[in-house]
Amino acid sequence: MLIVPEALIAELVSPEDAFQAVEATFAAMARGEAYNFPVVREALGEGRQYGFKSGLDRSGGQLGVKAGGYFPGNAAKGIINHQSTVFLFDPETGRPTAMVGGGLLTALRTAAASAISIDRLARRDAKILGIVGAGHQAGFQLRAAARVRRFEKVIAWNLHPEMLPKLGAIAAELGLPFEAVPLGRMVEADVIITITSSPAASLMSAHVADGTHLACMGTDTVGKQEAEPALLGRACVFADEVAQSVSLGEAQHAVAAGLLDATAITPLGDVLIGAHPGRRSSDEVTLFDGTGVGLQDLAVAAMAVRLARERGMGVEVQV
Ligand code: NAD
Repeated sequence: MLIVPEALIAELVSPEDAFQAVEATFAAMARGEAYNFPVVREALGEGRQYGFKSGLDRSGGQLGVKAGGYFPGNAAKGIINHQSTVFLFDPETGRPTAMVGGGLLTALRTAAASAISIDRLARRDAKILGIVGAGHQAGFQLRAAARVRRFEKVIAWNLHPEMLPKLGAIAAELGLPFEAVPLGRMVEADVIITITSSPAASLMSAHVADGTHLACMGTDTVGKQEAEPALLGRACVFADEVAQSVSLGEAQHAVAAGLLDATAITPLGDVLIGAHPGRRSSDEVTLFDGTGVGLQDLAVAAMAVRLARERGMGVEVQV
């Protein structure tokens, strides 16, 4: 089995690699060749969450699990709040084939999912990118979004405004003007990414103009919420996986409120394989509920392992 430590991932896997790997996974899911196993997620107390995301991709030959979670006290210790490790197995024999650091891969695969949704669903002429959130994931989201549209400006809001300058520095690196704005000004954005750990809606339907594409990426657990349910009622809703979207994603609230029917949510993979047209008009609101599926983790971890083997990197051990 090959161990690919966290420290090697940045050298091995680029945002482009993650985009390709996640796109292939979503397409395999839509073709019925890959599926996620039920998620296990447990609250450990003091806001800590721990769990397992796993699945099988027959077309990619991937079987495995990501173990990890969210530990909000970590930032004060100088380590990131998300901690995870991916384990890959041979789907034929069940033998472990790799153990891969999952921290950076999680950020890359999450940003890739959001960027795939923007690539496929946002208007081609989108100019202003809005971001709600400014934590660890937000910078990755900004970088990935900037790869798929020619944005001219970034506007951002965060409950904790002192975190916004760090996001502004990434926008500056990308050559994009950046402005911290009140939530009401999100109505100027053509694309809005939400990436917070909020327990209640911040982004209201009135904050979103017709024709906007939203990538709601922060809600990945029961009880989290970023958007007003009426916004999902108004939008054409897509998801990485419909079952997760309804049970633990942003759609959990709109479905419970009777404002959205689960059958009206389309897997993003359907757009990738041409089974759904995606955006149908320039004034339609499209919304991607990115809950984060285990197969995304397996796809980027398998890519890291392939590249590490090609370059003679990582540590081989017998188990
Ligand atoms: P982080 O701890 O670095 O940042 C948290 C963000 O949420 C900050 O912007 C913070 O200001 C904001 N926030 C905290 N409490 C809030 C509240 N009560 N109301 C509004 N905003 C609040 O976390 P991160 O690593 O950037 O992750 C952000 C979210 O994305 C988390 O909920 C995480 O679980 C989720 N996430 C989802 C996926 C996925 O695949 N969908 C993957 C990774 C992370």
